[in-house]
Amino acid sequence: MSSDKAILLPGLQTYQERDSALLAPYAMRSVDSSGRKHAEPEHPYRGPFQRDRDRILHCSAYRRLSGKMQVFTGEMGDYHRTRLTHTQEVASIARTIGRALQLNEDLIEALALFHDIGHPPFGHAGEDALHECLKDEGGFSHNEHALTIAQEIDVRYHGFPGLNLTREVLDGQGVRADKQNPDLKPLLEVQLVDAADSITYDAHDTDDAVKLGLLSLDELAEIPLIREMLRRVSDRFTGLSPLVLRQTLVHELIDYQVSDVLQHCGQYLATGDLSSAQQARLAPFLIGPSDQVAMQKTELESFLYDHVYRHPDIIKVRDEAQSRLRKMFAGYIDAPELMPKAYRTRGESVGLRRSVGEYIAGMTDHYCNEQYELHFD
Ligand code: MG
Repeated sequence: MSSDKAILLPGLQTYQERDSALLAPYAMRSVDSSGRKHAEPEHPYRGPFQRDRDRILHCSAYRRLSGKMQVFTGEMGDYHRTRLTHTQEVASIARTIGRALQLNEDLIEALALFHDIGHPPFGHAGEDALHECLKDEGGFSHNEHALTIAQEIDVRYHGFPGLNLTREVLDGQGVRADKQNPDLKPLLEVQLVDAADSITYDAHDTDDAVKLGLLSLDELAEIPLIREMLRRVSDRFTGLSPLVLRQTLVHELIDYQVSDVLQHCGQYLATGDLSSAQQARLAPFLIGPSDQVAMQKTELESFLYDHVYRHPDIIKVRDEAQSRLRKMFAGYIDAPELMPKAYRTRGESVGLRRSVGEYIAGMTDHYCNEQYELHFD
């Protein structure tokens, strides 16, 4: 921090002081950040990861998550999760775990808010369709696309393209984009956001599927994990209405998984063997569920896959969305003048096919349908 700014803000706690007071030795300290690609002056009272979080929160790709489906579409009602509410739930669960483990909450929140901003319209169906359209150009991945948005596409600042996020946030997302690469050693904060993402969707997809009538609680009770959660609920409460029972089950499901991660990882971290974030990232250890809960989660996920993600109503939406996206992709290639100027210009450097894919990826579900009906139906 420059001295003139320190004089302007006497008595305020600096982020360095906060980190020293709150973080465990294995947490990533803001002061140790490798910084940004384009040098910028320090902010008088916000740390680097706090600024990243704010930059992500204010970018248009983040706002558009409110119009992008998680699993279920807008035609199925308004009460289920969108990509934005999913993101907020991930951030909340990740911060809860991160605070208990004394990790860097600012970094955790930035990573969580960032993790899905590259999602195209229509969830994984949209991603698969774009991947196929771009297969000769290296394909399309929402995790990779988040990095492209943050480094090239979103223009908000004078002097550089993108959000100019810190190396730690970009690297964290880079691990998501290249999950099979054993050479990438993610910080504990990065590992945690991945675990929180999984806790979150296992719980809310179960909730939404029952709410939308794709599954009943009786059917779900076939799965040992859900049976165990229902048993815990019935030990504490009797006579719950179906609505409150469903919601209590979801709370239990989140609480059970969060407590498991805390117990499983807390024991190891409490040994005090890890004296720095760099040492922690190299340790043969991952923040995540215990083996037993990991197995229970796999059972739940494969049940959800068969009964929800492959449900005829979902498959129908999926097929329609994919055929629409394929037609739109071919249509914009034939008539690039239908795209905004920024994407036509971008096509000159990244190629027309890539820029068409990126333009479509930025659309909300609703805007995508509207443009399809306007130009290609
Ligand atoms: Mg996610």
